[in-house]
Amino acid sequence: MHEMGIAMQIVEIAAASIPKNVENIQVERVNIKVGKLSAVVPESLKFCFEIVVKDTPLSGARLVIEEVPVVARCNECSAEWTITGPVFTCIKCNSGSIQILSGRELDIVSIEIADP
Ligand SMILES: [Zn+2]
Repeated sequence: MHEMGIAMQIVEIAAASIPKNVENIQVERVNIKVGKLSAVVPESLKFCFEIVVKDTPLSGARLVIEEVPVVARCNECSAEWTITGPVFTCIKCNSGSIQILSGRELDIVSIEIADP
């Protein structure tokens, strides 16, 4: 389950971005974007996050995952579309020469801190 390693990285990065000069800070939410091509299972990642987050400054924080669809563009006819299945050819001209515009993301968007 590689989600465990990813969860640890998220917690590490988020913990490092908490302001050091504030005491007893409570992080409420960690918002991330996960592309559907990133091979991350959101439910597993949430599960791992809950385990990893214990005994860290982020204890009690919730992981909020926004799934990013896979968007492709055809290099031949410039069509853009959202890929929903395992078909990686252009929906208009059937060309196999396409590029992936989004869907590989694995980014921390923001962390939200509770009001003291
Ligand atoms: Zn095309």
